[in-house]
Amino acid sequence: MGLVNDDQPWLIFRKTRQNRYTLAVLLGCLEGEGLAQKFRMLIASSPKEIGEKAASGKVIVGFSFMTPHLLQVKDEMEQLRKALPKGTILVAGGSHATGDPEGTVKLGFDFVFTGESEKSFPDFLRRFLQNKLPGTTILSGDKGSGLFMANPPFSLQERFFAPIELTRGCFYSCGFCQTPRIFGHSLRHRDPTNIGRYLEQAFPYGYNQSAFLSPNAFSYGATGLQEPNLAAIEELLTACRQAGVEGIHFGCYPSEVRPDWVNPEVLRLVKKYCRNKTIVLGAQSGSDALLAKLKRAHSAGRALQASCFIHQAGFMPHVDFVFGFPEETQEDRQLSLALMKEVIKEHGAKIHAHTYLPLPGTPLFWKEPSRLDDGTKNALKNWEKKRRLDGWWEEQEVMAWKIVEWRDQGLVGTPIIDT
Ligand code: SF4
Repeated sequence: MGLVNDDQPWLIFRKTRQNRYTLAVLLGCLEGEGLAQKFRMLIASSPKEIGEKAASGKVIVGFSFMTPHLLQVKDEMEQLRKALPKGTILVAGGSHATGDPEGTVKLGFDFVFTGESEKSFPDFLRRFLQNKLPGTTILSGDKGSGLFMANPPFSLQERFFAPIELTRGCFYSCGFCQTPRIFGHSLRHRDPTNIGRYLEQAFPYGYNQSAFLSPNAFSYGATGLQEPNLAAIEELLTACRQAGVEGIHFGCYPSEVRPDWVNPEVLRLVKKYCRNKTIVLGAQSGSDALLAKLKRAHSAGRALQASCFIHQAGFMPHVDFVFGFPEETQEDRQLSLALMKEVIKEHGAKIHAHTYLPLPGTPLFWKEPSRLDDGTKNALKNWEKKRRLDGWWEEQEVMAWKIVEWRDQGLVGTPIIDT
């Protein structure tokens, strides 16, 4: 830890299970920018902990959260506003703030950061240290800059680690997904030498992660819509091995893959270098009509073929399906259930089932989700009983309708600018 100086302002981040990967990146950024030493830092696990530490002096408290945690954040904000000294600055960033900046301001935050904050947040902290706070409440970040690669992927100073983020941005525009709306469409990849260097620095502190973060692991090193860049992937996996990572995991959570990027060659590479026994595949639906409406840019047949490749290469396909999309018909669901059955029977697959969540900032947000019918629910439960299906689809179904309720109450919702 850095030297603590009682005259320094506090910079406090609210930590949750869901934002730990984001915090690692954020703390790494502040270290890279030379700002971590200018604050007394606290990673707090509760509002109580924040209240105890931030009783006096200059204080910034930061939240990064996702839409399902909106009410919890609202509640904590109310508690903190009462408990903290006047003049405490509360800031928010992350996927919810990016999707609904105005709604996030309404929760009581003084400043809201949207998009990638590798420039806007350090700039803000420098201004804070000079007592020159910005005049605007919503501070837009970059989309598409290479800045995230210039900083450490985690914090050595705070011993705060997470799977290294390999790639930022996504070529695609799936109607339900916030990723391209936060990070844009240009792919930026952390290079293998950079990754190897940080892995070596982290090992002495007990870092034992062997997984990575990516919207589509097999697009590592790619610059356009094309086949996987096998040379770049091999270079990455070699660098990890040389750095001493034992049991590399690639192409599984949190770096799953799109069906159209799966081929036998890339799977051979994963087999050669990695320890994972499963590949997580985003099929999402068995209906071509629905996939087209969702702008997935692949067919159900391509998902089936990818599952077959994965099985033939000696992995278990763990296949993502989502139910409850807006305008999803009974026929669409039957096609999804049929595809699920086929990959389970033919490829020994396991299904990872989700219920669609309407997320602010996405094109589908204002459309009504469809309600899951009993037949579909029973089919999912049957596969669950047979241990061929997992996932939080039942909890997500409840959450989906809560988000609709919050949206209809005006708690969340900003007009969409599709990208
Ligand atoms: S679902 Fe995956 S492929 Fe589609 S936009 Fe999101 S990150 Fe990209």
